[in-house]
Amino acid sequence: MSSSTQLARDIDGKAIAAQVLEEVREHVAALSLEHIVPALAVVLVGDDPASQVYVRNKLLRAKEAGIRSLEYRLPATTQQTDVLKLIAELNADPLVNAILVQLPLPAHIDEGAVIDAIDPLKDVDGFHRQNVGALVQGADVLKPCTPSGCMRLLHETCANLSGLHAVVIGRSNIVGKPMAALLLQAHCSVSVVHSRSVDAKALCRLADIVVVAVGRPHMIDASWLKPGAVVIDVGINRIETESGTRLVGDVDYASARTVASAITPVPGGVGPMTIAYLLMNTVIATRAQQARPTPQHSHETTEQLALSE
Ligand code: NDP
Repeated sequence: MSSSTQLARDIDGKAIAAQVLEEVREHVAALSLEHIVPALAVVLVGDDPASQVYVRNKLLRAKEAGIRSLEYRLPATTQQTDVLKLIAELNADPLVNAILVQLPLPAHIDEGAVIDAIDPLKDVDGFHRQNVGALVQGADVLKPCTPSGCMRLLHETCANLSGLHAVVIGRSNIVGKPMAALLLQAHCSVSVVHSRSVDAKALCRLADIVVVAVGRPHMIDASWLKPGAVVIDVGINRIETESGTRLVGDVDYASARTVASAITPVPGGVGPMTIAYLLMNTVIATRAQQARPTPQHSHETTEQLALSE
């Protein structure tokens, strides 16, 4: 028998994100025929360097897609009441279709209170409790961006997700929990493991799909994976190297690709998809607001208002 190892193929997040951005541009063009320019408001409180980079990238990509962006930079000392006042103004502004509050917020501000103050139809991050509830019920309009991006990567990689066993490692509100809900909607059998799980590795070794969102560099290596598993690495960790620093995922890519059938690299995997789905959500939100139910149509569900992606 040959001892050569077949390596997993890369799931090219950059290329798939480019396709999603092309779809966004098509939606923007269709909206422009109705004289509508989607507008995204980004609120950044404080001067966290990573947040500044994320916001800059989001605004740049929005501009490229033909989406109008509005940037609100507030000092770290801003009081919660002032952030809530700004959100109320953006909610009331018919020319603002999407509101993103960059997290984390300074410690004196209650993130939940700020997110729940956003109009659910403008909540492009999909973090408002109404959108989270709708997601669990499968009646969603605005779904969290990173899990949406991961699902697109999986749909592009696997012919059929139905019946596959997916293990999600991590249970955050931003990634792990919504990811599990979306996989369940796609008819996977879903297990979620976290820091209290007993023998997470044994469960993971049974999985056809592994989605890792932990925030620990190189935690998952080949010994965690069933041969042929599809691996989605959400983690972004900056580590020290001899020549400086570099970004790595939660998965030990070199090891995992000797066992997996397909894997996302870091960078160039999930990261580009998150921004692409932020912009897709902006056009979905814009459409949903155009069709916002009037009192006489109040029986319509928000699901009926969503764009087909
Ligand atoms: P959180 O810190 O909010 O959640 C981490 C999760 O990992 C928790 O549920 C925690 O469990 C679990 N965990 C910690 N240690 C273990 C362990 N030893 N075994 C199993 N589970 C463990 O992180 P996020 O979900 O916000 O982010 C995760 C990673 O994804 C980060 O690297 C982040 O930078 C990255 N990220 C990347 C994005 C992208 O666009 N590519 C977007 C968002 C995040 P418990 O709940 O028990 O504490």
